[in-house]
Amino acid sequence: MALKQFKTESKRLLDLMANSIYTNKDIFVRELVSNASDALDKRHYLALTDTDLADDDLHIAITLDKKARLFKISDNGIGMDREDLENNLGTIAKSGSFDFIKELEDKKDVDIIGQFGVGFYSAFMVADRIEVLTKKVKTDKAYRWISESEEGYEIKTAQKDSVGTDIILHLKEDTDEVKYSDYLNSDYIQVLIKKYSDYIRYPIRMDVEVIKTTDEEGKSETRIENKTINSMTPLWRKNKKDITPQEYEDFYMQTFYDFNKPLKTLHYSVEGNTSYTALLFIPSKAPYNYYTTDYKLGLKLYSRGVFIKDEASELVSDCFRFIRGLVDSDDISLNISREILQKDHQMEAIKRSIDKRIKTTLEKMLNEEFDEYTKFFEEFGAQLKFGAYEDYGKNKDMLVDLLIFKSSYKDEYTTLKDYIQRMKEGQKEIYYAVGESIAKIKEMPQIEKVLDKGYEVLYFLDNVDEFLATILMNYDGHSFKSINKGDVDFESAEEKEKREKETSENKDILDEIKKVLGNKVIDVRLSSRLKSHPVCLVADDNLSLEMERFLNETNQGKGLKANKILEINPDHDLFKALKKAYDRHDDIDTFASVLYDQALLLAGLEIDDPVAFSKRIANMMIRAIDNE
Ligand code: ADP
Repeated sequence: MALKQFKTESKRLLDLMANSIYTNKDIFVRELVSNASDALDKRHYLALTDTDLADDDLHIAITLDKKARLFKISDNGIGMDREDLENNLGTIAKSGSFDFIKELEDKKDVDIIGQFGVGFYSAFMVADRIEVLTKKVKTDKAYRWISESEEGYEIKTAQKDSVGTDIILHLKEDTDEVKYSDYLNSDYIQVLIKKYSDYIRYPIRMDVEVIKTTDEEGKSETRIENKTINSMTPLWRKNKKDITPQEYEDFYMQTFYDFNKPLKTLHYSVEGNTSYTALLFIPSKAPYNYYTTDYKLGLKLYSRGVFIKDEASELVSDCFRFIRGLVDSDDISLNISREILQKDHQMEAIKRSIDKRIKTTLEKMLNEEFDEYTKFFEEFGAQLKFGAYEDYGKNKDMLVDLLIFKSSYKDEYTTLKDYIQRMKEGQKEIYYAVGESIAKIKEMPQIEKVLDKGYEVLYFLDNVDEFLATILMNYDGHSFKSINKGDVDFESAEEKEKREKETSENKDILDEIKKVLGNKVIDVRLSSRLKSHPVCLVADDNLSLEMERFLNETNQGKGLKANKILEINPDHDLFKALKKAYDRHDDIDTFASVLYDQALLLAGLEIDDPVAFSKRIANMMIRAIDNE
């Protein structure tokens, strides 16, 4: 019979597994035990509603055969039928994981692969032939799946009395580098189980050598006994003080397929109307697919230590979707169907309680470990901002104090609260400037004077920031104001008086420029906010210039325009020159147009007619040179 081919991506992964010089081959034990445990969970879950399936001796057994070099792991879980074998062992279930592994492979970062957990395939690191003998619950046929390499596999009907799965590994021959026969040594396997799978809640049984004292003289003999080699207490059900940080880390990394340690671990129990234990983690890095639809939020849900479901999204709010972890509650009835679970008010109560915990944890981190918090914020801040923004700001009150922005105070992160405390006397509004980097913001014509006057400016570096400010509306009674808005008011009384005087003196030329620009601007005026720059553009209180740029770039609002105001610096030589030209009755159309285009460019906006702009510049250059 011809071998069936693995799906292409599986084939490459298998090849990588089989030939990797990967140092930590041990992890295959963990992977196979965890699959067996999942299969037992699935059977247990079905048995809740189908008594035919009940079996009070759900367990895992490991058998070692030194002579035949066989490592066998058996479970009496749900089992697989032919279709399951095809689907589950012929391809990689999680398509996202393959992309990830490929990325690592390209980086030659093979060591990480094991930690990521590639499941069943990891067995190819130690075996050159794998057999899976399995029989699914509620069926009467058994099958044998066999594969000797990435070349392919075959499936035959087989004989098996009881329901469940045996995975039989024919271990590779020992080499100078790797002693595969270690995996036939029961002491070594015990060590691995303790290390990786101790908390598995089903007994893992194995024949082990025990030394027994046989008489009073202290004579002893070695006997073989079949023993349970794991302690079976899930980590989160252990006493906190008996758990080492290392154990938490290992648990997190293995359970949630992350090769980075968690940034924060929360382990606590709540007693009361709804009692539960939670083990929650804030990851230190956003998963590679975090900001995509592939990412699934939610916590694992257990009831009395029994797994119920993965990715229970009803346990944590969307704005905290980065949280990984699990909840174990005695109060959740196991018989309720998964659909009903969603509306269950116990679940609602747990969710509210978890949200609150997360919030207080983040607040504490913000107040006591600001550096840690900024690390967190760099990864997940966009999520919090989005959380405060979405649903018309439904959650903004819960989240606003967790938001931090960089500011001109030290070019570092600050909270809004701290900003308010540093506000200058008489300052009413919270000033911000939008730009793609701090350097870019510092080049903005209108920022120089604001900073000179000692006002602090928040740097809005994310596209969402300004939209967020519109949703927040104000903080502590102070509204947000872009330094690019027409009506921003930093002027002192003298400055105002001077500007008004100059404006009336220059009314004619300002009107003339306005006439040239037509409906491109709603106003042309003299400015007191400019220092070294000749012009800038600002917008009125509606759409801002940055929003115009963003909406047009992202095609969300093509053609939307901000109401623009051209501001001219009356103290700049350029304006003085312009006046001279005007007084001489020169044609100032060209100058006015170039001035406007310049202001557009400085604001990061496209100029309407680049060809005309370029012609005007060329003509001006020719005239300038001719006049020399
Ligand atoms: P993962 O466990 O991450 O889904 P694996 O490659 O380890 O990926 O396993 C693929 C699938 O094969 C599992 O999801 C499960 O459906 C099935 N499987 C593996 N081992 C067993 C087992 N012992 N009993 C029943 N099904 C199994």
